Amino acid sequence: MSELQEQLHRRRTFAIISHPDAGKTTLTEKLLLFGGAIQLAGTVKGRKAARHATSDWMELEKERGISVTSSVMQFPYGESIVNLLDTPGHQDFSEDTYRTLTAVDSALMVIDVAKGVEERTIKLMEVCRLRDTPILTFINKLDREGRDAIEVLDEVEDILKIQCAPVTWPIGMGKRFKGVYDLRFDRTHLFSAQHGGRIAEGEIIQGIDNPRMDEVLGDQADELRVEMELVQGASHPLDLDAYIAGRQTPVFFGSAINNFGVRELLDAFVEYAPPPRPRATLQRPVDPAEEPFTGFVFKIQANMDPAHRDRVAFLRVCSGSYKKGMKMRHVRIGKTIQVANAITFQADERRHVEEAWPGDIIGLHNHGTIQIGDTFSEGEELKYGGIPYFAPELFRRVVLKDPLRMKALQKGVVQLSEEGATQVFRPLKNNDMILGAVGILQFDVAAYRLKDEYGVEALFEPANVKTARWVVCEDPKRLEQFKEKNYENLALDGDDQLVYLAPTRVNLDLAQERWPDVRYLATREL
Ligand code: GDP
Repeated sequence: MSELQEQLHRRRTFAIISHPDAGKTTLTEKLLLFGGAIQLAGTVKGRKAARHATSDWMELEKERGISVTSSVMQFPYGESIVNLLDTPGHQDFSEDTYRTLTAVDSALMVIDVAKGVEERTIKLMEVCRLRDTPILTFINKLDREGRDAIEVLDEVEDILKIQCAPVTWPIGMGKRFKGVYDLRFDRTHLFSAQHGGRIAEGEIIQGIDNPRMDEVLGDQADELRVEMELVQGASHPLDLDAYIAGRQTPVFFGSAINNFGVRELLDAFVEYAPPPRPRATLQRPVDPAEEPFTGFVFKIQANMDPAHRDRVAFLRVCSGSYKKGMKMRHVRIGKTIQVANAITFQADERRHVEEAWPGDIIGLHNHGTIQIGDTFSEGEELKYGGIPYFAPELFRRVVLKDPLRMKALQKGVVQLSEEGATQVFRPLKNNDMILGAVGILQFDVAAYRLKDEYGVEALFEPANVKTARWVVCEDPKRLEQFKEKNYENLALDGDDQLVYLAPTRVNLDLAQERWPDVRYLATREL
């Protein structure tokens, strides 16, 4: 096997999807702990706090008590190298999460046993389904009273339309929570509550009929035996092909805060989750084992290091390898650049990377030339697609306080839209600048950054726009007619694509009725 093949087969690149409060942050901490990336749990939040202290932009995060940014963490586990792509918890930044999901090879779904399937999880699952992303499921908080395990699995199957294959099964719950039974190895892992950062092991009992089970579990041993017969009869057996195809999710139970059930999860994750697979480009599928380097940018983050006012473009390596100092082609602008100082994200410490392999994420310093969705190669004209932009639902007209700052404003607004922070629309009929966002906090971030980074004080006024649709039409003549008749409501986005800005839903409905040969897209793929 070549080094490239060996390295790529070790890679597991994933993100955690969950509804807020299900335990994503807690589980992330524990996973890092198992990876030896941090000594003490609690440091994920700790690290966030440390970053806050050094970043004035992130003051905004602190004031609001939310996490706007997402980061990448890499840690070794056994023979594997795990890349965990963190995503913002707040739904106003869900676009960022959706784009991050295009850069992973699998996902881990965390569900609170008391709450079952919640609304954000449904939305995120829909996004995963667009690419048939394989999903492992962790049902969390078994140390608390929750709902019946079978009921929760039924709900996952019904609402999320994915088969559940239990891999571990909980013994009791809340005060009666005694541990998990591992169906694959016919063994029980007894629960020992623990806090802090130690990895302590509870007792392991081999065999469900082992008398030791009755000794330590009492009546619950027989209850488990009966329940397991029921579960094995009624649920789907583990089928890794179905998992890889996104049709089945292997399910684990545990308690993230007690670090229980996490080892089983992580062991199975590195065994089952796929390494990087071939990816589509507009031209052809690219195999990760191809020697020439390729990758795409799924996220741009500003001011990770405020001392340098820098922007970092997060690039997912798709094939070949990155070597420090290599030349790569920025396909969209047709330029070759030399990259001496890409950043890697080992346990979130920014370090300069010597090499990176398929599945890894590297950070490129961006001085305004890199946009979300950009492809980099070693010369070949390739374009990775599939990065979604969503039609915004919120709109503001930007009004400048000091008219002399117009140029700076334009520059700022365009760059923010290239980073995917907000979207910009310029109506055909006048010189207005309309910002569009999916979540209201995006405007706060935009206003803050315009002032902080571009020295522009701007007011955000309500705009008479209810929703937006990208407009396409196969017939250029019809499109011209459409443009003429709808001039008042048309605009160009940051990429000069034609957009219909509807003052009301009714306007949109009418336009659709009158111009049936025009397509109105609520999502645009880059
Ligand atoms: P996130 O919003 O998904 O990142 O959730 P967090 O990891 O911040 O957890 C939300 C809350 O649930 C916190 O108060 C955690 O301490 C708590 N929590 C997380 N895991 C568990 C668990 O296994 N058991 C219990 N009882 N609480 C948990």
